[in-house]
Amino acid sequence: MNSSPNFPLPVNEPEVHFGAGTEAAAQLRQALNTRDVVEIPTVIGGKRYFSNNVVEVRAPHDHSRLLARIHRPTEAQIGEAIANAKSVSRDWAALPHASRATVLHRAADIIATRQRMRINAATVLGQSKTIDQAEPDAACELIDFLRFNSYNAQRVYAEQPMSVATAVNRTDWRPLEGFVYAVSPFNFTAIGGNLTTAPAIMGNTVLWKPSEKSALANWIFYEALEEAGLPAGVINFVPGEAELTTRVVMDSTDLAGIHFTGSSAVFQSLWKGVASKVDAFRTIPRLVGETGGKDFVLAHPSAHPAELAIALIRGAFEYQGQKCSAASRAYIPRSLWPAVREQMVERLAQLKVGDPADLGNTFMGAVISQASHAKLTAVLNAAKDDSGVTVVTGGKTWSEPGFFVAPTVLEVSDPKHALMTEELFGPVLSVFVYADDAWPDTLALIDSTSPYALTGSIFCTDRFALREAEAALVNAAGNLYLNDKPTGAMIGQQPFGGGRASGTNDKAGSYLNLLRWTSPRVVKETY
Ligand code: GLU
Repeated sequence: MNSSPNFPLPVNEPEVHFGAGTEAAAQLRQALNTRDVVEIPTVIGGKRYFSNNVVEVRAPHDHSRLLARIHRPTEAQIGEAIANAKSVSRDWAALPHASRATVLHRAADIIATRQRMRINAATVLGQSKTIDQAEPDAACELIDFLRFNSYNAQRVYAEQPMSVATAVNRTDWRPLEGFVYAVSPFNFTAIGGNLTTAPAIMGNTVLWKPSEKSALANWIFYEALEEAGLPAGVINFVPGEAELTTRVVMDSTDLAGIHFTGSSAVFQSLWKGVASKVDAFRTIPRLVGETGGKDFVLAHPSAHPAELAIALIRGAFEYQGQKCSAASRAYIPRSLWPAVREQMVERLAQLKVGDPADLGNTFMGAVISQASHAKLTAVLNAAKDDSGVTVVTGGKTWSEPGFFVAPTVLEVSDPKHALMTEELFGPVLSVFVYADDAWPDTLALIDSTSPYALTGSIFCTDRFALREAEAALVNAAGNLYLNDKPTGAMIGQQPFGGGRASGTNDKAGSYLNLLRWTSPRVVKETY
């Protein structure tokens, strides 16, 4: 179980560029043009199950484009997945770390080479990401999670207590006793890869419920894991209906952990579900979650308006603002606002919203679902009728051929307005313009109106003011960016996660996260 480090520190997987006329663009185009409808099974103990309970996956930007059909598991099959995860757990845990890591490295290599175009195309079509957003996620970050989790696991295993002349001491980094329930979101293909392999590299077995919206890309990753030699039953692919799957999981006394990324409301309901019957579990389950955000961008009067405008556009609107890390509220000093506003409006007018497969031309695809589209439409309609809100740009939504929402900037006069505090998970940026001399008050205001605390950005060229802001906002973000947009954390460089309602801050992609998936036994031997 313990082994000395033998995998070197990985480098981040470099991005492939898909510029016009490149070989990469041609290959991607071919993958995008495939009209096959993928049948996505449930996989339990290495066996594939197809059912009559099928959910169709369509491109969010094109209702007519059917991509896949998910074969949902029955209640009994979900129970079977738990039994399988249990039955293989000893063998998986007994493997040396290097054997488990080899599987992950092989899967990373498969994604990096043969499946790169396919998983990118699935992410472009299934989740409506442009390739500029898909490649860093479905290829690079996914690969990085596999390689860095392998590397960081060996750092954990290398940590040993000291021995003395009369006693040899040892830590056995055991997995948790039971199985881990991994629940992954639609917005990053890579996250499903992390939520499953972080527990698995530490010797745990997993029941994975991917979001239906990303199931196609997640399935391609799962196939890569199988091909890489992941033993049957170690990670069970269970694209079940959420409530049913969670109920069956919670009914098992062997639930040992939940690894979750998604909404704060769902994570809180999982906590409540576990708490309500905590005495029933053999092991008190570990709950690790990365949830919502209402991420701020604060500009000091010393900031550069042009840099700020670009960071706001990228931070708020890339991938339609559907990132927990997205900039969704900005605090801009009155002296800078006219220039920032003008530049944002001008640039946004030139950015295309449409088919993400229109490589190199589209900046934003569709939002993920009808529910999200309806919610955002209602919010924007209410904003137009609100005398305290000015629509600076955008405000429009349309639902043919897909679920589109224009990038929208709203100027909000009340900094406590719901638009400044509630997560929308869409391309809507709310701006509060503050008086230049109200800098300290604005710091206090941001902190006090942050129910979430995931990411935040401060733009400021005055180093004294920057230090002051960092200190005042110490609890308002788990990932703080100084003079940069608040999105795009890189594995190994900016371990990711936040506090308050944003989750347990167990830093995805770092050894801190892996520590949650182990229950160490310390052995003292005397002789
Ligand atoms: N890690 C992503 C980023 O830094 C965000 C992940 C999420 O939305 O859950 O942008």
